[in-house]
Amino acid sequence: MMPKHYRLLYDENACIGCQACSVACRVEHGVPEDFFRLQVRMELHGVFPHLGMSYERMACVMCEDAPCVSVCPTFASFQDKEGLVHIDERVCITCKYCILACPYHARFINPLKNVVEKCDFCYESRVSKALLPVCVSICPTEALIFGDMSQTDSLVCKTSQKETLIFPKAHLKTKPKVACIPRRKGAKS
Ligand code: SF4
Ligand code: SF4
Ligand code: SF4
Repeated sequence: MMPKHYRLLYDENACIGCQACSVACRVEHGVPEDFFRLQVRMELHGVFPHLGMSYERMACVMCEDAPCVSVCPTFASFQDKEGLVHIDERVCITCKYCILACPYHARFINPLKNVVEKCDFCYESRVSKALLPVCVSICPTEALIFGDMSQTDSLVCKTSQKETLIFPKAHLKTKPKVACIPRRKGAKS
């Protein structure tokens, strides 16, 4: 079978900051309070009474050239054949090299398990079973789109062709598999 080229799109125009995605992620993966695989940060802008909100999604962006993988001394951080970055909990020694190397601040030590953790695109629990990541499936406004870019008729592929995409911190050349559809000028929030 051909390897899949996964991509996750986050549409800033559709997001309402409801946090359903981050709550569902926490429940799905048993992430303890005060730690996050996923956060949607809110920012207030404008001058009263013309105030608006904008949102930013913070999670692992699944770098193709992943600094977290290259610094790991035990190969606990590794990339699968489809380019997704995983953590083998059995060999993670919590040295924190990967936490320091990640420019997206996506990793943390889960104190319940004493291993490093991050978003894994819900691979084990859902995507490997042909389900969507839980954050994507729960989003009430369809602000998240996930799929295989090699399927030209997929929504993720069609949307990527139609929209202008921003890849977070693109100047670092880590080649993220997560991209953002930025707020359109004059969009209401
Ligand atoms: S569930 Fe959807 S609308 Fe709500 S915060 Fe997450 S991405 Fe935004
Ligand atoms: S965002 Fe961070 S944790 Fe995720 S693949 Fe890139 S460097 Fe690794
Ligand atoms: S893909 Fe899964 S692990 Fe990643 S942020 Fe969404 S719910 Fe969390």
